[in-house]
Amino acid sequence: MASISRALRPLSRTTPSVRLASKRLPTYRPVQSAYAFSTTQRRRDVDLSHLTPTPITLMSETETMMADAVSKFAQEQIGPKVREMDEAEAMDASVVEQLFEQGIMGIEIPEEFGGAGMNFTSAIVAIEELARVDPSVSVMVDVHNTLVNTAIMKYGDAQAHRAWLPKLATNTVGSFCLSEPASGSDAFALQTKAEKTADGYKINGSKMWITNAQEAGLYLVFANLDPSKGYKGITAFIIEKGTPGFSIAKKEHKLGIRASSTCVLNFDDVVIPKSNLLGEEGQGYKYAIQILNEGRIGIAAQMTGLALGAWENAARYVWNDRKQFGQLIGEFQGMQHQIAQAYTEIAAARALVYNAARKKEAGQDFVQDAAMAKLYASQVAGRVASSAVEWMGGMGFVREGIAEKMFRDSKIGAIYEGTSNIQLQTIAKLLQKQYTN
Ligand SMILES: Cc1cc2nc3c(=O)[nH]c(=O)nc-3n(C[C@H](O)[C@H](O)[C@H](O)COP(=O)(O)OP(=O)(O)OC[C@H]3O[C@@H](n4cnc5c(N)ncnc54)[C@H](O)[C@@H]3O)c2cc1C
Repeated sequence: MASISRALRPLSRTTPSVRLASKRLPTYRPVQSAYAFSTTQRRRDVDLSHLTPTPITLMSETETMMADAVSKFAQEQIGPKVREMDEAEAMDASVVEQLFEQGIMGIEIPEEFGGAGMNFTSAIVAIEELARVDPSVSVMVDVHNTLVNTAIMKYGDAQAHRAWLPKLATNTVGSFCLSEPASGSDAFALQTKAEKTADGYKINGSKMWITNAQEAGLYLVFANLDPSKGYKGITAFIIEKGTPGFSIAKKEHKLGIRASSTCVLNFDDVVIPKSNLLGEEGQGYKYAIQILNEGRIGIAAQMTGLALGAWENAARYVWNDRKQFGQLIGEFQGMQHQIAQAYTEIAAARALVYNAARKKEAGQDFVQDAAMAKLYASQVAGRVASSAVEWMGGMGFVREGIAEKMFRDSKIGAIYEGTSNIQLQTIAKLLQKQYTN
């Protein structure tokens, strides 16, 4: 199978950002524009007078092709393995290989380092399309692209780019290691310590809940180099699998996204060279905040993809397969209203996701938009995936189809990369700032 990103490269280089796909799409697509329309920022901050208003959910030709190609790949190559991977609580190694072959693991990495050199929205599109089929594969791609790749591209120097980006684009899965047994929502209370040595650093401590831990070869680890400075001692390091003293202590068994590995990691006197420092000492907390702000848009996309996948699966069943009282169950008005309500909520969540993505690309402040997108998309995913089980009756409850899996998978959206309460806190804090005299 030809690589998706290679097939799109010529287009991504030549397509003007406002050229739109002429093809009518089954789902809404965002438009790439120099500026995104804000529902949240004071409009007087941005001069929009020269722009022709376009729907936020239309996308460029490149992004549309990305969506179509990833959707096809997900349905054909991942779809048949979803149930088996969930039951085995393991990611099929061939899926990981294919993700690299397809170029989906280096979407924003520049071409000179083996990546696809595409934009952030292309990554969001891929995460969403994968989640329509399997949210576990989607989160692997999300963490790898929006957290690990982004951190190294943004904060690494030229040497770090040369050392890590080609691996991340072609064969090495990345993990983002911030949470610890005693620090989840209060992430910067982390206890993992770094000490300076003559040639580099020594890391000691534990990380918990680490996605991709099993498959990863590169771990972006946050540790405190100077606890006397509190969170201002937090520093980002890169640790490779196989470094003496590094171990995977435990793999968690979970309610949902069971094919995605989530592990406890131990670091016992892990010695790394100076070149494994990412960026500057003491800047780790800033990096983590900034990366997670972006990453949240990815989780929001995962949740909208999940919601759409659960909705489509149930819609096909009620409108094609199941008859009761002599008619298709999707023809009862009581069902139709629920189905329409759910789709409307998915469309609203997608608008928030793509608005946040466009604002990030446009260099605007997107923190509140990302938090709102993640909060709302995970709520919608939970509601829609739950309703989809009910619409399918007993067939939604059994482990043959994907309905019950999507329902289980949806719960994680309210927990990782900042719980729903933490998103609400962020939104409220920013609103209060705007509305305080
Ligand atoms: C499957 C999975 C994958 C994960 N992947 C990663 C990963 O790759 N890398 C990584 O670093 N971490 C990862 N995490 C960790 C994840 O980010 C944390 O679980 C999350 O931040 C919540 O932390 P916690 O579990 O300690 O919950 P807690 O912080 O203990 O929160 C428990 C409850 O208390 C509430 N709460 C806490 N503080 C407040 C407050 N100030 N105000 C109101 N309510 C509050 C929360 O909203 C929540 O409802 C993952 C977690 C899971 C479950």
